[in-house]
Amino acid sequence: MGKYKFRPEQRYALWLTYGKKCFWCSEPFSFREVTVDHIIPEYLLDDPDKLKIVLHDYRLDTSFSINDYCNWAPAHNHCNREKGTTIYSASPAMITTLERVRQKATAAKLEEEKIIRAVHNDKLLGKYEIASKRGKISKAEWVAKIESDHDKRILVLENEWHQKKEEFLRQNDAIAYLKTKRKFEGAMAVAQIERDLALKYIEDVLGE
Ligand SMILES: [Zn+2]
Repeated sequence: MGKYKFRPEQRYALWLTYGKKCFWCSEPFSFREVTVDHIIPEYLLDDPDKLKIVLHDYRLDTSFSINDYCNWAPAHNHCNREKGTTIYSASPAMITTLERVRQKATAAKLEEEKIIRAVHNDKLLGKYEIASKRGKISKAEWVAKIESDHDKRILVLENEWHQKKEEFLRQNDAIAYLKTKRKFEGAMAVAQIERDLALKYIEDVLGE
């Protein structure tokens, strides 16, 4: 069975949810240093009998998912225990560790969803993944792209608003004018917020 391939937004969500700190050594670290540790080792997926025993020892349900936020924690590469294949025995400390991760799972999942929404339904993240794998897009190019998308959107909104305004003035309809004005201002504010979030994401992902 192949290793789970983490999407950047999942690593990012884990990093934010755990306060930008390594789960094992508690030191702050940059997003680019984040690797994902499986508390219950992933290689057990290749050995269902052993996995069953381990889940039983840890008092976990058989529906427990190895590849889920319930079992993922952000860690330095050198702190990530997966380099070894030791299964730690189900000591009270390990059970507490799993409980700590479980308590963060919902928040991490919500964080992931928030990131996806903020960067236009995965479009930007998908492009980032491909571009970063090929090493083809620089941070400056990303920023330019986000700024230009934003400017285009504002331009469209402004043009629409000017057309509407003319129409309302001809009709002498003050109420329709005010309602529509408020709507356009809201849409522009949303565009601004999304641009800022996307820029923040690129800043954190690509660093300096
Ligand atoms: Zn660490």
